[in-house]
Amino acid sequence: MNLANPTNPLEFKSIEVSAKILVLFGTRPEAIKLAPVINELRSIKRFHTIVVSSSQHTDLLTPFLRLFDLETDYDLKVMTDNQTPNQVLSKTIASLDEILENEKPDLILVQGDTTTTLAGALTGFNRDIAVGHVEAGLRTGNIRSPFPEEMNRRLISQATTFHFAATSENRQNLLREHVPESRIYLTGNTIVDSLNFIRRKYSPSDAIRSVVNQTNRMRPILLTTHRRESFRRDMRENLLVLRDFIQKHSNTCLIFPVHPNPNVRNITNQILKGVDRVHLLEPVDYTDFIHLMENSWLIVSDSGGVQEEAPTLGKPVFILRENTERPEAVRCGIAKLVGGNPRKFGRMLEDNYLADTWIRSVKQVQNPFGDGKSAKRIANILTSLSRPLSINK
Ligand code: UDP
Repeated sequence: MNLANPTNPLEFKSIEVSAKILVLFGTRPEAIKLAPVINELRSIKRFHTIVVSSSQHTDLLTPFLRLFDLETDYDLKVMTDNQTPNQVLSKTIASLDEILENEKPDLILVQGDTTTTLAGALTGFNRDIAVGHVEAGLRTGNIRSPFPEEMNRRLISQATTFHFAATSENRQNLLREHVPESRIYLTGNTIVDSLNFIRRKYSPSDAIRSVVNQTNRMRPILLTTHRRESFRRDMRENLLVLRDFIQKHSNTCLIFPVHPNPNVRNITNQILKGVDRVHLLEPVDYTDFIHLMENSWLIVSDSGGVQEEAPTLGKPVFILRENTERPEAVRCGIAKLVGGNPRKFGRMLEDNYLADTWIRSVKQVQNPFGDGKSAKRIANILTSLSRPLSINK
């Protein structure tokens, strides 16, 4: 099979019906979103699926591999303490290139906008191997925010052959950048598949049930924050706002699984350690995190995945960022942007505490990001792409 040649789809020649597909991930969100795709691909006999982890994150990633029963064929082990995105990029490219030399896959499948994703797309492009990009077309319009993800997204799209867009807005973003329409596939976001799978299959741990039991008569705020561009100033200010809010209102509490990044840990320890009704946790596994989301009064987060999970769970989210590449979350009424101005964030917390009409009105809505069948759609598209007749239609 030859899936390469990004310029003219009619030049695709599918000689063999079977294909070798290399799937690459390196961080928690990539594992969550690629797990259902890998499982679909592995169930299709004509595909030989090779799974590669860069281990851009190790501690965060490992529990997710177990949870989704993901076996990796190669581990690039690129993670070391405090390294820069450039170091991750160069190490991943160098190691992956050797694997491509040996395995000679027909397609590389990457997901999202991390440094690992960029490394996979570039390495594939340089070897003239087709690249499939899951969750293509997310844009904030600000090249520096989120940093470096927005730049990664644009570069990845340039190197991509098949763009799997989660929403029609994502598809439009790609069309605006002159990606050929025939290369864009509207699939939904596979995070909904994973969320449904985990909720069906697992129950939360006793430790997390106990945290929820301790706080269920209060208004628990669940916090995640780890974005690189927030380290400089905003993170400190936002944590101070949250601390003051919790201290002021005795029926509130804060649950914060703290990201292992040392910048996040230092600021958090300085501001929140030892504060009453603040529960600082290690990052929790997906089952437990879903349970925390379900039982929160409000979620405050700068995470992308959390915005995509909230509509299924019917939970309100304050997005701790100035912009979002997921405007669908705001539009469906589940999320509000509160970042970039800590005083405004504080005011919004107070306003919603005094009159929590919005918070109480947020309900489960049809998830604008996906219907839980996205992985199957992607696998079906790849199957049809590898079939000679359909490709030349
Ligand atoms: N998450 C988790 N445990 C935690 C914090 C987050 O399982 O302690 C999940 C969350 O539900 C979401 C994903 O991890 O699906 C978000 O990961 P992250 O914030 O690292 O990445 P982003 O979504 O911003 O790309």
